[in-house]
Amino acid sequence: MLTKQSKSLKNSLFNNFLLISLLMTLLFGFLMTVVLYYHGINSAYALIRNKNQAATNYILGYFTPLRSSIEYLSKQPEIIYALSDSQRYKNNALALFDMYSSTFSNINFVYSGYEDGTLLINKYTPPDDFNPKIRPWYKAALESSPEISGGIPYEEAVTKEWLVSISKILIDKDNTLQGVVAIDASMDSVTKNLFERDEAYSSSYSYVIDKKGSLIIHHRKDLLGEIFKQRVETPDSFANQSGRISYVFEKNSKIGYYTNLDSLGWTVVTVVSKSQIFYNLLIIIIPSIIVIFLVSLFVGQVISRVLGNKIITPLKTLEQHVKDIIEGKKSENNQDDTNLISEYEEINTIANGIEKLTHHSLFQKNIELESKNELLEKLSQTDYLTGLLNRRKINEELQKEHQRAKRYNSVFSIILIDVDWFKNINDTYGHHKGDIVLKEIAKAIASQLRTTDNLARWGGEEFLILCPSIDLSGAAAIAKKIQSTIEKNNFSVSNKITISAGVCEYRDTLSLDDLIIEVDRKLYNAKSNGRNQIII
Ligand code: GH3
Ligand code: MG
Ligand code: MG
Repeated sequence: MLTKQSKSLKNSLFNNFLLISLLMTLLFGFLMTVVLYYHGINSAYALIRNKNQAATNYILGYFTPLRSSIEYLSKQPEIIYALSDSQRYKNNALALFDMYSSTFSNINFVYSGYEDGTLLINKYTPPDDFNPKIRPWYKAALESSPEISGGIPYEEAVTKEWLVSISKILIDKDNTLQGVVAIDASMDSVTKNLFERDEAYSSSYSYVIDKKGSLIIHHRKDLLGEIFKQRVETPDSFANQSGRISYVFEKNSKIGYYTNLDSLGWTVVTVVSKSQIFYNLLIIIIPSIIVIFLVSLFVGQVISRVLGNKIITPLKTLEQHVKDIIEGKKSENNQDDTNLISEYEEINTIANGIEKLTHHSLFQKNIELESKNELLEKLSQTDYLTGLLNRRKINEELQKEHQRAKRYNSVFSIILIDVDWFKNINDTYGHHKGDIVLKEIAKAIASQLRTTDNLARWGGEEFLILCPSIDLSGAAAIAKKIQSTIEKNNFSVSNKITISAGVCEYRDTLSLDDLIIEVDRKLYNAKSNGRNQIII
């Protein structure tokens, strides 16, 4: 039973540690997730801001020279007055265009259009119905006047390359609009730069929006020219110089950072998918949680084992000790080793206590048992009514005495008494009264005997007395004394009570049975001789 409890104690220790491990893991996991989430979001923002800064610098570095160029070109008389009579102006203007496009690798075309519909450009023959005044770059310059137009993306018809045009109006001395000068720059390198993948956040990229909200630089060509705010859900405004934004684009939650480039009138936006931030977090958090769980499980296992052994082993030793005590293998004096049952004082105290209790209760039980056995023995030897020895016991005593007499050649006598006319007492006073009288007779007989004599109830109202070391005459004297005592005794009934008795002495090799037969015969003779007499 103890073994069963020990097992469940060990299990329960382990289960408790398992539970603690789980709770610890959950707690740590939760705290770590929260901390790492905020850390992750912040580091993502820091990274995006850096990327945005880099993109901004790149764009400024890319477009500022172009803007200075267009600023410069718009002030050149050769270009303003290219359509004047002088062919020289026109040639100079074309030479200037050529010089720019060959000097700056990212400039594809430099050209100008005029109010009369003329287009001045190198290496390009416009169609017959070509009208520069209705081209977007021309219109944009007018709209942005007197500033440089922000930039218009378009796909070059022949090379299919995406270009961005920046343009500015040409004003003559009289402040009259002559036309527009424009530069087409390749966007491929810019787009490539803004879409450069980041190792940590592969979903991050940058794009550019102009003042009107049109996407002018974006790695997805299908989005170019689209109005940003019409493509995203809950867009944040770009009200500050720079700041954070978050929105949903094509069901993809994004967070980002923007910078307004006042000089270009553009906004550079760098974004990253929120799901990727979570993904990056998960690949840190999940292994960490698993490691924490395994470590705490291992620690729990070790602790529960160590504790289990420290508690359960002493318990098992105690169990063995208690078993030994119960089985009598271990006495109370032999319990010194109980002090060594455990290294812990408390367990030893309990163990000693239990062993002492076991000893004590066993001791108590033994005492009870002994007294019960004594009682049982006494009951088995005693006549229930008179309290005298019963027939079984006196037979034992007779046998013992007979043996002794035979062996030592000693003497002993027996007296067999029968109450005269006892039936009459029962008939007159009832059986119950008869019992009382029987007890009174027993008491009266006993009063006349020595402690060495054995008085027993032989049968109903018959008594047998064993007198060790007493010969026939001694026994006859005892019988006589008893006879006269009974005769004179005051019984609780008015009848005169007398007894008859036979007396015999053991002699020669007389058997016990023969001795009894002889005494019985003598008693019978006493009866037949008229009762109230002793036959020797
Ligand atoms: P006698 O011996 O002189 O021949 O006459 P008696 O009446 O004693 O006759 P007997 O010995 O044959 O009968 C014994 C009677 O003793 C019979 C029974 O009623 C009575 N007796 C025996 N044992 C008990 C007992 O335990 N209690 C009571 N009340 N009476 C008993
Ligand atoms: Mg009788
Ligand atoms: Mg009788």
